[in-house]
Amino acid sequence: MTPEEIMQMAIAEAEKSETPFGAVIVKDNEIVERAGNSVQSDADPTAHAEVNVIRKLTTRLKTPSLESGYTLYSTCEPCAMCAATCFWAGISEIVYSVDASDFEDGHNPNMINIPCEDIIAKSPSSIKIKSGILKEECKQLHSKYPL
Ligand SMILES: [Zn+2]
Repeated sequence: MTPEEIMQMAIAEAEKSETPFGAVIVKDNEIVERAGNSVQSDADPTAHAEVNVIRKLTTRLKTPSLESGYTLYSTCEPCAMCAATCFWAGISEIVYSVDASDFEDGHNPNMINIPCEDIIAKSPSSIKIKSGILKEECKQLHSKYPL
């Protein structure tokens, strides 16, 4: 699968969750887990798509710490909580679409203003980060929902 095809699956998870936030985890070029944001439906402030998809995978694999080779795709730049969760889970690579600077007002008022790459840079891990995959599609997805 191409990164664009994988991001399309993350978009599908977002659309199912009725939020602009979806995430999938890939290993050996196959999607191994997927989730959307469920903050409202679960009444859980930590139920961001990235946390949900990591929780589903680590629960299923019965380990809090993934072996190397797992890539997390997200429709949006992971927030500080989600970036930290990627570190704690042992995610090897983060691929996201839009980030705060992609929005016209320059920032998302619901975000803690610490870039994902800064969180990872302050960690002892060497998680690779890529961004901008299907940016226009994800910007359009976000535009359907009020901030
Ligand atoms: Zn988050």
